Amino acid sequence: MRGGMMSTPLTITEIMRFATRLYRDTEVISVTADEGVHRSTYGTVFKRANQVAHALGRLGVESSDRVATLAWNDHRHLELYYGVSCSGAVLHTINPRLFSEQLAYIINHADDRVVFFDPMFLPLIEELSDKLSSVSHFVVLTSKNKMPESSLLNLHCYEDLISQDCSPYPWPELEETTASALCYTSGTTGNPKGVLYDHRSTVLHAYGSCMANVLGLSHDDVVMPVVPMFHVNAWGTPYSCPIAGSKIVLPGPKMADGETLQSLIENEGVTIALGVPTVWLALLAYLKETGKSIDTLNRTVVGGSACPISIMEEFEKLHGVYTHHGWGMTEMSPLGAVNRLIPGMEKLEESDRNEVRAKQGRTPFGVDMKIVDSDGKDLPNDGVAFGDLKVRGWWVADGYYGEDDNSGPQDEAGWFSTGDVATIDEYGFLGITDRTKDVIKSGGEWISSIELENLAVAHPHVAEAAVIGISDKKWGERPHLVVVCPEGITPDEASILASFKGKVADWWIPDSLSVVDSIPHTATGKISKAILRKQFASAVFK
Ligand code: AMP
Repeated sequence: MRGGMMSTPLTITEIMRFATRLYRDTEVISVTADEGVHRSTYGTVFKRANQVAHALGRLGVESSDRVATLAWNDHRHLELYYGVSCSGAVLHTINPRLFSEQLAYIINHADDRVVFFDPMFLPLIEELSDKLSSVSHFVVLTSKNKMPESSLLNLHCYEDLISQDCSPYPWPELEETTASALCYTSGTTGNPKGVLYDHRSTVLHAYGSCMANVLGLSHDDVVMPVVPMFHVNAWGTPYSCPIAGSKIVLPGPKMADGETLQSLIENEGVTIALGVPTVWLALLAYLKETGKSIDTLNRTVVGGSACPISIMEEFEKLHGVYTHHGWGMTEMSPLGAVNRLIPGMEKLEESDRNEVRAKQGRTPFGVDMKIVDSDGKDLPNDGVAFGDLKVRGWWVADGYYGEDDNSGPQDEAGWFSTGDVATIDEYGFLGITDRTKDVIKSGGEWISSIELENLAVAHPHVAEAAVIGISDKKWGERPHLVVVCPEGITPDEASILASFKGKVADWWIPDSLSVVDSIPHTATGKISKAILRKQFASAVFK
């Protein structure tokens, strides 16, 4: 028997309608790429999303067409999030840090019709334009008086373009499974793959992430996503903040700039900030250097890479900011787990509590996870057994855009293989041990590079650390530690290696160490172990 309740589709348009009714005066603050700090409100952003939708129509964009953005976090990008998706087109957010061949590949693969971009990316677009066969219009995200000179054909100015029709747009009533946004994830091998989100998955993810045990957002919060809007929709905050009524602060191109982050936190009263460990290292270093404070900030949510306990402790002990570890991936919209201690755990001894806090956390309602061995057999949730992590849920991808069905990430039972190796303990806390391809296998046993990196960065002579496997005649592989030191420090290498003693099994301790000026990162800010492995491929240590 069918239930007797309404089945109103879950669409992003409903988020826009809701926030226009209830939170139209709630502020949207951005650091723009062209005009410094800009103040707006949800009411204005959504009004301008109507103008964007009209403009897309004039550019010939039809329902399901892909519309690309190469842009930092600001109000214009937020307007496009709603204007594009709610008109029935698909917002394709692109990481501008990708190599130009990759950019051309994904724009062509997505068959993008229009590209909106921040002014600083004009040279990149000019260089690429010949290779972009599907793109018929380019739009610079700026105002008329800041419009750069260019010989590019079909180039428009955003403010000019959207000012031509300010009437309400007749938003279509979309089915909830309509595609809303597209984000490519780049593996280390093969071409990038597109994850195609839909309205339903996006609304459920945003709804779920607002919950108290997840991000716990409310209209008392001021949220600063220091995660790019081009990488997994800034962890869904452009959708969850208007649902919660939280003021949003968008840091623009100044993502890893400690000074900008500190001044935004203090001036705008930021209460929750989200980002990868690297940006927090920059903020913490700036605070140490200047003695400045971040008094309004209550919490940070750190994910994307493992968050070392040393970052959590520095935040808490020096600045009174609590850090939640989070885990997710592009294919999961991205939230897969957030670390919130369960009742009773706050009474644990500090070292035991830290052991739990270093884990990536528990799944929100809507995501299920398990670990399996190499035969695909379920492993126990005892916090010790580790194996391939599989997930399923309302906001997990069930295929890649434009790939044939057999290449989908799901197994027959509908579980998606994350490519992470993990433990799950009896309380459901996930502990990521490694990426499958980064695990070090020494004498047939696995060593967790993440655990070693977390211990290494606790040493005062280490600013950033990476551990990779180096081939070894006897053991197959042995761990090698690569570190960057804080400025002005001459590292005591023996003391760094000795600092592992007693914290991990002796055979886990790296045999060798290299000090480098910088560690290579991927376009999404993660340590690039693939490049490091190449750099140290022929190295023989000992
Ligand atoms: P991406 O799809 O680019 O966001 O990358 C997702 C991958 O980042 C995951 O599969 C993990 O390997 C890694 N990752 C994300 N969050 C964490 C975390 N908190 N700790 C360790 N690895 C993480």
